[in-house]
Amino acid sequence: MTAPDGAAQTDTVAETPVSGTESEPVARTRHPEKARRPDQPSPRKPHWIRVKAPTSREAAEVRQLMRDKKLATVCEEAACPNIGECWHRRHASFMILGEICTRACAFCNVRTGKPDGVDEDEPARLAASVAAMGLRHVVVTSVDRDDLADGGAGQFARCITAIRATDTGTTVEVLTPDFRDKPGALETVMDTPPDVFNHNLETVPRLYPSIRPGARYFTSLRLLQRAKELRPDVFTKSGLMVGLGETRAEVLQVMDDLRAADVDFLTVGQYLQPTRKHAAVDRFVPPEDFEDLARVARAKGFLLVSASPLTRSSHHADRDFVALRDARRAQTRGL
Ligand code: SF4
Repeated sequence: MTAPDGAAQTDTVAETPVSGTESEPVARTRHPEKARRPDQPSPRKPHWIRVKAPTSREAAEVRQLMRDKKLATVCEEAACPNIGECWHRRHASFMILGEICTRACAFCNVRTGKPDGVDEDEPARLAASVAAMGLRHVVVTSVDRDDLADGGAGQFARCITAIRATDTGTTVEVLTPDFRDKPGALETVMDTPPDVFNHNLETVPRLYPSIRPGARYFTSLRLLQRAKELRPDVFTKSGLMVGLGETRAEVLQVMDDLRAADVDFLTVGQYLQPTRKHAAVDRFVPPEDFEDLARVARAKGFLLVSASPLTRSSHHADRDFVALRDARRAQTRGL
């Protein structure tokens, strides 16, 4: 769903952040389409949702590098609860194609509205930052760019090419939008190709109209399946949030759908409400339920599963890539 252009009319309505590491009121409305919605309930977080603030020297260096290179991270834009831990390890997920998304998902903290044009210098700056940080593995994601003819696929390809050209051996994981199913978009990305192709289903199909209204479940599922058909050697990955009101049976059905689409890696994490204008948390899923989901998912044949309250699709992506490669080797050897 395209966000309205009229951000100015609601610019004075501040949102109250309720999750992640943010502690100050958002200075201006990031989500004009949500500003007039009633506040949603915001239950207290349980003790197992504990996060570290990004206060280390390493985190400060990552932040400075992003400012110097004029780059955005989904870590900051999505108010990710893991930012303290990840940035301390100098692991960040880059967000390309600007900081303004053309959709208006009910779970997402990324700013919505009318985006700027494509920054042609962005791939070079991104590649330089990846080299400067000495990253072995990098995650590149983007806002939805339904306004672009290719949905932003060309910029993904240019970023992958620029990172490869640094000759650092950095492996590349892309976490893409659905490109609104635009003809040729997925092919543009898979022609380059990345080492990991990730596209998150986010939630169960029944909740799409309220949680991911601009997307279609089967379009997303088919995108993952086509990615594997185009490049069987590229790992495919998808993620789900739980705690939005889905049932266990619905989650298991999504797992079956993903396995039918030949997806290699599943991540499952707790939904956290970014502001009171976003969808309410239905429940905080206890850690033992994540362990149960992980056990079931492994039994269904995923090469790798990561499921815990603070799992996010790019959390520990570097270590997980090594684990994915090892799992594939073991599978090939019939271990
Ligand atoms: S989990 Fe991903 S988005 Fe969150 S801080 Fe870590 S790298 Fe950034």
